[in-house]
Order: sequence, then C-alpha cells, then structure tokens
Amino acid sequence: MSATMPPPSLPRIQALPDLLISQIAAGEVVERPASVLKELMENSLDAGSTAIQVYLEEGGVKLIRISDDGCGIARDDLALALTRHATSKIRTLADLEGVASMGFRGEALASVASVARLSLTSRARGSDHAWKLRAESSTIAGAEPEPAALMAGTVVEMRDLYFNTPARRKFLKSEGTEFGHCAEAFKRIALAHPQVAFTLVHNGRSILQLPRSDLSERIRAILGDEFLAHARLLQVEAGPLSLEGLIIDPTWATQSKDTQYTFVNGRFVRDKVIGHALREAYRDVLHGSRQPALCLFLQVDPATVDVNVHPAKTEVRFRDSRAVHQFVFHGVQRTLATPIQESSGSEPPQPRAMEITAHTAAPMPRHQPGLGMAEPATVAYLDLARSVREDYHREGSHADFRATAFPSPVRAQAPQSLSPQPLPETASEGPPLGYALAQLHGIYILAQNSKGLVLVDMHAAHERILYEKLKHALDQQQMSRQALLIPALFSAQPLEVAAVEEHGAALADLGFEISLAGPGQLALRAVPALLQAGDPTTLARALLAELQEHGLSQLMTARRNELLATMACHGAVRARRQLSLPEMNALLRQMEDTERSGQCNHGRPTWTELSMDELDRLFLRGR
Ligand code: ADP
Ligand code: MG
Repeated sequence: MSATMPPPSLPRIQALPDLLISQIAAGEVVERPASVLKELMENSLDAGSTAIQVYLEEGGVKLIRISDDGCGIARDDLALALTRHATSKIRTLADLEGVASMGFRGEALASVASVARLSLTSRARGSDHAWKLRAESSTIAGAEPEPAALMAGTVVEMRDLYFNTPARRKFLKSEGTEFGHCAEAFKRIALAHPQVAFTLVHNGRSILQLPRSDLSERIRAILGDEFLAHARLLQVEAGPLSLEGLIIDPTWATQSKDTQYTFVNGRFVRDKVIGHALREAYRDVLHGSRQPALCLFLQVDPATVDVNVHPAKTEVRFRDSRAVHQFVFHGVQRTLATPIQESSGSEPPQPRAMEITAHTAAPMPRHQPGLGMAEPATVAYLDLARSVREDYHREGSHADFRATAFPSPVRAQAPQSLSPQPLPETASEGPPLGYALAQLHGIYILAQNSKGLVLVDMHAAHERILYEKLKHALDQQQMSRQALLIPALFSAQPLEVAAVEEHGAALADLGFEISLAGPGQLALRAVPALLQAGDPTTLARALLAELQEHGLSQLMTARRNELLATMACHGAVRARRQLSLPEMNALLRQMEDTERSGQCNHGRPTWTELSMDELDRLFLRGR
C-alpha cells in the first residue's frame, strides 16, 4: 500500500457537481410552488411589465406559467438566465447596496430549473421574433434556443415541480393548500404593484382579475369592501422615511392574523421591528388577543436596509431599527388616536356647555406623494371609501342586527351593519355623536345625530375619557386633587400601611392624600379631581393593591398606563347612575374630543350607530 493513500475510514473531500449545487440552493429559494410563483412574478416586474398573467394547474405543482409584456431576454442570454449567479440586475457591490429591483441574486431560475422542467420563451425588445429555451435538469448545459412565436415579453413555464427530487415532493401538501399559498403570494405582489395589471387562473378557472388601478382600488379588490369600510387612512413622512396605507379601526379587529400586509420598499416582508411597533401601537386599543388587519407600505432609503438577509427576501435588516420602530409606532398610534371629530372629517367642534379638554392628537397626517397614491388618488380614496361604506350599509345582507344592536363585549367579532366610526359623510350636520335623548337602563346613552340613532356605553366611554385625561395630567404633572368633605376610613394590612408611609409623595403626585388614622386604619382625604365620580375607597384600595404587587418604580414606568387604566375604571361613572341630559351631552362632546374614544381601556367599543336606513329596514319600512 502506498504511503500517500489515506486509511479507508478517512472521508475525502470532493467538489459537488453543478446540478447538485443548484438543487441544494433550491432548498432555500424553492420551498413550494408559491415560492416559484413569487420569484417568477418578481422577474416579470423587474422586466418592467405592465400586465402579468399567471396560469396554474394543480396548485402550481403541475404547472406554473407566467406571461408578461416586459423587456424580454436576448437570445444569447437565455442560457445565461438559467445559470447560477448570473443576473442583469447588479454588477458591483455598490449596486447591491442600493438595489431597487426585486431580484439580484441570480439564482432563482437556476434553482427552479434544477428541480422542475423549465422553459423560457422570450422576445427581446427590438428583435424580430422570439426564442425558446427548454431546460430539464440534465440538459441545461448545451441546450440551444429554438425560434418561437410570441408578440412581446416573456413566458416562463415550470412543469412538474420536484419530478427529480422525490424526497422533497413528499413535503408538498394538498392541491388546495398549495394553491392557497400561491394565491397569497400573488396577492402580496399585486397589492404592492397597483400600476400593473394581473390575472390569476387556476385549473382553467379565473380566480382574480386585477386591472391597473390606484392603490386604494387595488386594496379593495384584494382585501375587500369590508376592510376598506372599517379602515383608517394613514400617511406620514419623516425625512427619508414614509409610511402609507390602511389600518383597521380597532373595533373591527378579529382573531385572525391573516390580513397583515407590511411592505418595505415594495417588498412584502415579515419584520420583527415593524411587527413589534404595530403591536405596541395597537396595544392601548385592542381587546384581548385581537389582531389588527392592515396594509402598510414603508419606504426607506434603500441604502439603509439590507434585503439580502434571506434567499426568499421576506426578512430585512434596518441599519437604524430604532428609528424605524419609532416612526411606525408613532404613525400608527397617532392615526388610531385621532378623535372622532377629525377622523370623521366633519365640521369643527361647536362651543361646549361644559368642560372642554384640549386634546393632543396630531392632525390627520398630511398626504405625502408616495406609492401610487398621488394627491387626486387620495381624494378618490376618500370618495371610494365613502361609497363603499354607504353600499355596505345599504345592502340588506347584513340585516341581522336585532341580535347585535346593543353593545356587548363580544360584539366586535361579527361583521355587522353597525359602524362605530364612520368615515366622512358629505353633509353631516351637528356634532358626530349628536344630542342625548335618554338613558337606557342606566347603562346606555341614546342620542340622535344627523344619521340616526347613536348608542353609547356610558361607563366604557367615560373610562376612556378619564384614562386619556389622567395620562395627560400626569405627563404635565398637573394631577389636581379634590379634598373629600369627610375623609373615607378603611382598614388596611400592615404592608399597605407601610406602602402609604413610604410612598406618600408619589401618591400625592398621583392625586391621592392618604394618611394613617389609627392602628390598621387608613384615611383617604383627597382623590384625583378627575376621578371624583367614582367610589373613593375602591379607588384607594385598587391603587394600594397595584402598589403592593408591582412596586412604585414599576408603577410609574412600565405599568404606568395599566395603573391609570385601573384608576380610570374605578373613577368612571358607574352603571345605573342617573345622568341628566346636560351631563350626557357633555360626555358626548368629551368623547368627540378624546383620543381613542372609540374604544374603552380594555379595547371594547364605546359607541355604535344605527342609521335611519338601518332602522327603516328593521321595521320593513319603505320596501
Ligand atoms: P435575478 O432575478 O436575481 O437576476 P433570476 O434567476 O431570477 O435572477 O433571473 C435571471 C435573469 O433572467 C434576470 O437577471 C433577468 O435578466 C432574466 N429574466 C428572468 N425572468 C425574466 C423576465 N420575465 N423578463 C425579462 N428578463 C428575465
Ligand atoms: Mg429573480
């Protein structure tokens, strides 16, 4: 045996054959038919297409055919297009850093060609006919283009995904599931490119036909009238950052996470930073585990975002993720906070009989020219939203409001004809929430506005008003105290007594004056003026319980809002309290002026509306 031969057990290193390299790479890019569809559609977009047709068979496993009217591929480049790391989109590292195209890695077609039968037919702009190149794993190298008939653009056809990799074929799910993923990939791309027409056909059945349009119309075509009718328009810009789109009014949030579309520079992404900012922004107004539906487009300077984090490019890395977080959080939070007056676009508030609070909401963010929503489109959007809303409420199909007309905590779940926060109406007169008529069972306020009947959950509404005021007062260090005529005495545990003695100053900042009245007894001498309608002892006990459980520093920082929400809950008018008409009207006016007043502190709706049309329908009037 020669001295240079290694012992038989030592593994040897070999370079892998090209095809196997592509098949390994394909594991990352080609996860399932939907990922092929995404790559091919992105290629068509990068080619400058204005119309893209997608034809699928058997969930995209048997066939994916994409036809576009883009710039096409020159005959001599057809084979290169199928070669790994060959691309027309970047040349240098500098190009990569500012990349504006969807693709740039030059590996999608090669990957697909290694695990399926692929053909490219293309007519390069300016050439007198088209060429076709067929590639089947074994024949990629040395394949020759042949002349073909095609008016313009490119047709890419993928057949029999994983025909040569049976192990991967086993991971494919049912036809229905794979088609579902394809449809989702299609929608994501179509949402971000309203200026391009798309069609989707599956097994010969037309599924979606999307003509070129503006962004709002595209959103409507894909996410539906109901989303548009209950969404708020968001448009903000700060330096190189801009954000626009539609976010659901919290009342209409559901348990489903399905309708959450976030895009960065036109690319659909699932990003932790953005996701966290959105959750935080909705936290104060979302009930329980509900999820907001939204469709948001973030634009950033391409040089400040790395899109080359994952082969499928659904993740990104921001250079300054804090700035992005802040920007998204504030944009969404402000839009959600916009009081009824502003978001309903009606006339400015009239002078009030009773207390008026200056609210701190920023005005509705001004429109900034951005993705497909030029100034006229915004106006068109508002018109559209209005007409959609009107149609939606006119239609008899949502007529079962007998069961749902009166607010209950679960009400927001079912789609109904009740719209707690209407978008602009052309000729609205008087305040949006109208004038009080009566109180129902000591729980609801009934009011009349220009559209019909308004129902307000008085405790929930008051709770939100107080909560917002408490936050404001504490921020401004202006929590005014109201001395009690007769101090309220209550028994206390030794730890509670200790807490009172130790944190007297902090309690005073919060508007409370509590002192020791005897062994095991505390005297409450003053409460925050804002909360004097509530029961003082319950309020003080709730505060001390929070203090014991979380400690002062937590209470004043991370748990501050929870504390204020608890205080607001105990300080708000109790159910069954009789209110006079002026008191009720004052509450309505305050709601109109309060940020987030559509939801109570627990995210439940505070008011709802029955239009005259809806009432007429209840009584089968006029039809
Ligand atoms: P990448 O998109 O990252 O460049 P791909 O493997 O997806 O890599 O595509 C390789 C090349 O093939 C592209 O750079 C482009 O030049 C060309 N190409 C692919 N699809 C089309 C198309 N539909 N129209 C025009 N050119 C295309
Ligand atoms: Mg590509």
